[in-house]
Amino acid sequence: MIDFLDVTKIYKNDSLGLKNITLRIEAGEFIYLIGKSGAGKSTFLKLLTLEEIPTRGAILINNQATHSFKNKEMTEYRRNVGIIFQDFKLIQELTVFDNLSYRLEIEGLKSAIIQDRVRAVLAMVGLREKETCFPHELSGGEQQRVAIARACIVQPKIIIADEPTANLDDANAFKVIELLKELNLNGTTVVIATHDEKIQEKFPNKTLEIKHQTIT
Ligand code: ADP
Ligand code: ADP
Repeated sequence: MIDFLDVTKIYKNDSLGLKNITLRIEAGEFIYLIGKSGAGKSTFLKLLTLEEIPTRGAILINNQATHSFKNKEMTEYRRNVGIIFQDFKLIQELTVFDNLSYRLEIEGLKSAIIQDRVRAVLAMVGLREKETCFPHELSGGEQQRVAIARACIVQPKIIIADEPTANLDDANAFKVIELLKELNLNGTTVVIATHDEKIQEKFPNKTLEIKHQTIT
C-alpha cells in the first residue's frame, strides 16, 4: 500500500530528519513507531501525510510515486488520511458537532447525511450526548475521542496518530487505543508514534523503532 524506498529527509537548515528508510506499510496494518525525541518520528509521519517531501528516495502509494502526483491525486490521498495529534487540535470556537461536520460540509454532503454520520461516529466514541458542548467543556480523554471521531468521519483508509495518548491518564489512553484497534479491525490502517510503554505492553502490535534517524 505505502512503500518507502531509500527515503532520506534533510531539512532546509541541513538538519537530518531521516536517512535511508526502506519499508512497506500494508493495508490493514496496526503499527507503533517508537524512538527517542529527535529520532525522526514526526518527520516520518509528515512524509506519510505528504506534508513533507523526501530529499532523496521515493514514496509510493499503491505503486505510484508521490512525486508524480498531480493536485487531484494529492487531494484524493489526503482525503483518505485521518490525523490525530497529541494536543487534540479541536477548534475551540466550534461545538463538538461542528468540529465533526465541517469536513463533510466541504465535501458538499446533504445536511441530513452529515447529521447521521456525525451522530454515528459520536456514538462510536461514546460521546453521543456531548454534541452541543464546546471542547473546553470536555475532559482531555473526551477531547481526544472527539478528535478520533473527527479523524474517522471521512472514513479514511489510514489513520496517523502522533503521540495520541501523551496527555491522557492510563484509563483514557487505553480507551483511545481500543477505539483505534476497533477501526483497524474494520480495515483502517493505523500508524501511531508513541513513547507510551503501557499501551505497547497492554496492546502489543508490530513496532518500528527509529534510532539515529533510521530504521534497521
Ligand atoms: P521526533 O518526532 O522523533 O522527535 P523529528 O522528526 O521531529 O523527531 O526530528 C528529527 C530531526 O529532524 C531532529 O534533529 C529535528 O531537529 C529535525 N527537524 C524536524 N523538523 C524540522 C524542521 N521543520 N526543520 C528543521 N529540522 C527539523
Ligand atoms: P515531537 O516530539 O512531537 O517531534 P518536536 O519538539 O521534535 O516534537 O517538534 C515539534 C515541531 O517542531 C515539529 O513540527 C517539528 O517539525 C518542528 N521542529 C523540530 N525540530 C526542528 C528544528 N530543528 N527546526 C525547525 N523545526 C523543528
